[in-house]
Amino acid sequence: MVLAAVLAVVLVVVGGFFAARALLGATSAAPPVEEVPTAAEDTPEYKEAAAYIDGLIETYHSENPEEQAEFFPGGAAGYDSTYMNDFMISLVETQVELEDLADLEGFEARGDIASDVADLVLSLRTKAEDLERMFLAQESFGSKRLTLEDGTQYSSDGEYYPEGTPAYNAEREAFAQGFVGQPDANGSYAAAGEELAAGLGVTLNHNFGEILDYCGRSDGSTETDTSTGAAYCDQSPGVVYINHDSVSYEADVHSPYYIQMIKHEFGHARIAGVCATTRPQVASVAGMNHETLTNAFTVLYLGGDADLLQQVAVDRPEYLITEEANQLAQGIHDSSTCQ
Ligand SMILES: [Zn+2]
Repeated sequence: MVLAAVLAVVLVVVGGFFAARALLGATSAAPPVEEVPTAAEDTPEYKEAAAYIDGLIETYHSENPEEQAEFFPGGAAGYDSTYMNDFMISLVETQVELEDLADLEGFEARGDIASDVADLVLSLRTKAEDLERMFLAQESFGSKRLTLEDGTQYSSDGEYYPEGTPAYNAEREAFAQGFVGQPDANGSYAAAGEELAAGLGVTLNHNFGEILDYCGRSDGSTETDTSTGAAYCDQSPGVVYINHDSVSYEADVHSPYYIQMIKHEFGHARIAGVCATTRPQVASVAGMNHETLTNAFTVLYLGGDADLLQQVAVDRPEYLITEEANQLAQGIHDSSTCQ
């Protein structure tokens, strides 16, 4: 309204000037009314584009893999956490590109080309729309290699691999192998554990007793114990249960062993993903404990630390890795040899 009033005043003055000129018989044209330049962020197009991109980020942002899985065909069966990250990063990149235009007005020089800022705003609006369409159609976002805010490197080929496919598993293994968890200022690896789990596409459930809703204890008891640090149950795939009542929980979570423990549980998950059980027959007939097999698998394919993983073997020899276990783990990994 203020702007309209100012413009009206200008027009009146110009009109008066025009009239005086006409009276004097002047023939030269009146100077053009000068347009007030508007910063991009004050235009309705910018506001609409910003609200649209913010809305997409809000809709799809979640730290919870189970919630994210709902955006994929087949839910958890089609979930790909890396592809989800690719989508979110692409949206945030578009948001930042738009913010970079906020103060600009008129035309922006890019090299030799001057682009209309309004067109650039609209193209980013369209880009965000395309990103959502591509995500929902599981199209490739193209490869990305960048440094995230926390300084970590992110790289992805931008492809969608539904959970359980060889490409998906290769992606998870590469992540596990490259993952080095750092403790927080208090020496706790709890946050690093969450980061590892998210990258592996699994959830950490810290209510250990809930595992009994799906899997019974091998000794038939219906209560959780204080000697188990973590566990995996193939009847509730994608969840690693962490036992805070374990006698060694505090020591474990303040040690790099915590990361190894999660990798080990993910090893059970991978074996169950191939063999439909954490206790494949190929090990049972060889008289091999499934923990031996899992530790071998974890070291061979998930960047497991053999020394840390075999620490518990002092009291529990079933965690000791054998050459035969390496062979069976390789058979499961390379050729799905479960029986
Ligand atoms: Zn185990």
